[in-house]
Amino acid sequence: MTADYHIHTKMCGHATGELEEYLAVAAKQGLAEIGFSDHLPLYFLPPERRPAGYAMTEAELCGYVDAVLRVRENSPVLVKLGVEADFVPGYEAQLKKLLEAYPFDYVIGSVHFIDGWSFDNHEEIGGYSRWDIGELYERYFALVRQAALSGLFDIMAHPDLIKKFNYMPPGDLTQLYEETVLTFKKAGVCVEVNTAGLRCPVREIYPAPGFLAAAYRHGLPVTLGSDAHHPQITGAGLDRAVALIKTTGYLEIATFERRSRTLRNVD
Ligand code: ZN
Ligand code: FE
Ligand code: FE
Ligand code: ZN
Repeated sequence: MTADYHIHTKMCGHATGELEEYLAVAAKQGLAEIGFSDHLPLYFLPPERRPAGYAMTEAELCGYVDAVLRVRENSPVLVKLGVEADFVPGYEAQLKKLLEAYPFDYVIGSVHFIDGWSFDNHEEIGGYSRWDIGELYERYFALVRQAALSGLFDIMAHPDLIKKFNYMPPGDLTQLYEETVLTFKKAGVCVEVNTAGLRCPVREIYPAPGFLAAAYRHGLPVTLGSDAHHPQITGAGLDRAVALIKTTGYLEIATFERRSRTLRNVD
């Protein structure tokens, strides 16, 4: 089976399409299962400082959960209730409280901000010039490890998102990957194989083959995700993601129900 576990909807403010439209494409693509994982409200900012178009508001979160629970009742494709939550150090208690209020099947943890800098936003691409790229990678992966160790997440999103705009440090990243994977193992999280990178300047799946190989060696399960922000992108690139995980050695992907994990054969 193949499952797309990273799908956004228009409710986040920067995607388009209704739940039903994503479902229709998933059915057409023959996906056995999908999970919606829209952006959790920016809980780490005071409500009046939350920019529009990044995520749902807290008032809208309840509507999102209800809509997913409703649409899955008559769906030909198995639908899971997920969410993509930003990790910002120091706000773990607020995040925990928000996550506990809803019956999520899984929670994807993401690092999109480094000290308030939205490094994966093309409008803030100028920020890269302020960094030594090697130090930036160290800082980014340290945050990703801290996120994993928070215990709040089931899956770590696009683990090497920092490569999105093709800013690559000189030298070998093996040690950084190894250290990160060992931390993921300790934290008990899955690695997300996310195809959005194929549609970004880096033109490579997240994570890089070297990261994924380390994850496989240490027995970390994987999930698959398109990171669709438009219905037509549902399932996009998953054939390549499946080919990549199989080449790496994986025979199974992880699926979730009420935050409990089951491995299933991938086809
Ligand atoms: Zn998004
Ligand atoms: Fe993300
Ligand atoms: Fe996403
Ligand atoms: Zn994402």
